[in-house]
Amino acid sequence: MSSNRVSHYAGLSCQCCTDMLSQPSSRRDFLRTAAGAGMAAFLAPQLSFAASGNYEAMVLSCIDPRFQKLVFDREAKEGRTDKYSAFTIAGASIGVVAPAFKAWQVAFWDNLAASLQLHNIKQVIVINHRDCGAAKIAYGAAAVATPAAETETHKNALLTFKKELAVRQPKLGSQLGLMALDGKVEMFS
Ligand SMILES: [Zn+2]
Repeated sequence: MSSNRVSHYAGLSCQCCTDMLSQPSSRRDFLRTAAGAGMAAFLAPQLSFAASGNYEAMVLSCIDPRFQKLVFDREAKEGRTDKYSAFTIAGASIGVVAPAFKAWQVAFWDNLAASLQLHNIKQVIVINHRDCGAAKIAYGAAAVATPAAETETHKNALLTFKKELAVRQPKLGSQLGLMALDGKVEMFS
C-alpha cells in the first residue's frame, strides 16, 4: 500500500469522533465513563452498576417506521412512559425466534440479561404487528396471506418466544401482543 493511500484514509474524518472531540470536556468525560462502565459490565458482571434502577419492563418491538410512535403511545397509555427499556428488531418476537434470523438471537438475549441486571425489569412486553415485512421474509408470503394466517403466524412466534423466555429468564413475565395498523393490540397468552 502506498503512503499516499494511507494518508488519504488517515485524512478522512469520522463524524462520530469529530463530534465527540468537539464537545466540552465534561461530555467527553461522560462518554469515557459510560464506555468504561460498559466494558466493566462485560468484564465483571457480578459488580453493581451506577446506572441501575427499578423499571417495569423491556418492550420488544419491530423496526417498522409506522409503528414507532404507535408503540410509544401505547406504552404511554399503559402508564409506562420512562418505565421501560426498549429493544427494536425486525419482526419483534419473529426476529428473536425465527430460524431465518438465528444470528440475531444472541444480541437480544444478551441485551435482555443486561436490562434485567441494570434495570431490574419484571417482564418483557412483546409487540408484533400486522403487515410486517419481517414475517414475510421469515416464513414466506403464504404465512401472512390472509388475516387469519397472519394472526396464526404471529401467535406462534409470540408463544415460541414465551417458551424461550421461560427457559432463559424464568423470573420474567411477559405480555404478548399483535398490533394493527391503527394501533389496536390483540393480546395472546
Ligand atoms: Zn415489522
